[in-house]
Amino acid sequence: MKIVDIRTTALRSPCNPPYASAGGFLSSRAGLIVEILTDEGVTGIGEAGFAGGASETLINGELKAMLQGEDPLLIERLWQKIFARTRPWGRRGVLMCALSGIDMALWDIAGKVAKLPLYRLFGAFRERVEAYASGGFYVEGKGIEALAAEAEGYRARGFRGMKMKVGRNPSTGTSLRHLLAEAEKCEVDPEEDIARVAAVRRALGPKAKLMVDANCAWSPSFAIERGRALAPYDLFWIEEPVATDDRAGSAAVASQLSTPIAGYETENGLFGFRDLIFGGAIDIAQPDLAWSGGFSECRRIAALAAAAQKMVAPHAFSTAVLLAASLHFLASLANGLPLEFDQTENPLRSELLKEPITLDKDGFLAPPAGPGLGIELDRAALERYRIR
Ligand SMILES: [Mg+2]
Repeated sequence: MKIVDIRTTALRSPCNPPYASAGGFLSSRAGLIVEILTDEGVTGIGEAGFAGGASETLINGELKAMLQGEDPLLIERLWQKIFARTRPWGRRGVLMCALSGIDMALWDIAGKVAKLPLYRLFGAFRERVEAYASGGFYVEGKGIEALAAEAEGYRARGFRGMKMKVGRNPSTGTSLRHLLAEAEKCEVDPEEDIARVAAVRRALGPKAKLMVDANCAWSPSFAIERGRALAPYDLFWIEEPVATDDRAGSAAVASQLSTPIAGYETENGLFGFRDLIFGGAIDIAQPDLAWSGGFSECRRIAALAAAAQKMVAPHAFSTAVLLAASLHFLASLANGLPLEFDQTENPLRSELLKEPITLDKDGFLAPPAGPGLGIELDRAALERYRIR
């Protein structure tokens, strides 16, 4: 079997109204779907991190030229070939986003050839995966009551946990949050963050998992202070408390707080996670399959986490293709935690598949049962949101 072509579809959908975390202000959602075509008619589907459109350029230029004519089942060889040949300017960031989409599509082909859903090809650990609702964003004019009502809605639908945003506070002077676009919009006083978390804990009840995500906004000392102030609300984890590259700072936070520290979706690749894991910067590893090297690299990261007795909770906040991939990944892991299930209004997540992935009454998601990723793209939906 040979790779004959690669096709990319760039998608965008507006957020009405826009919503914010401490790390960004989202007025639209974007995604890049990657399809690898073979001479035997088998097509693999993947998703690459959008990277401001740069991953698309990379895939359609440099990387396509490296892949055409190659055997798509030599996945490890192709992965390492791309990594090696782009080393001077690649390694992380945009290259890793592009490589993620290619790896995911190659594994989809492998699953289709093997006639096995990917989680089974990887050696399944479970048939369904607990999901948590990912929401609780800052929105202009959205008060604590509306946030509590959002949490109550998740509980009513069967979710056993929820993640909410914290840290959109005026800059402490030690973080560079004030440089982000629209940084001053929907900022809250740090004390209001505590009240927001308290309200969500009340709405969810004492047993639900409650996670907070600071999106790298805090200084280490402020993160420790915040972690202590939030201790009464029994958090399941605190996500990305400090800057991605402040590993010593994150390690200090992790050592001072009993609440587990999760992160860093903004890191990518095995070597980045090696430093986070063995530097004591995280208790829970959160690679994103579309940013961190696809199944191949994220499975290596999960094995490394297992070697350090740490758990894995992949970041999954994009299209339905990433959601399906993340489900297969987690269903194959012994050290997996609940899956992030984006609950914002996002048609790229809810409309792209012929058979959408839906929550069961117990709050779990089942990986699609068909071979590979087990998904079929709804071409009309792709056309609706296509920008290129
Ligand atoms: Mg996050």
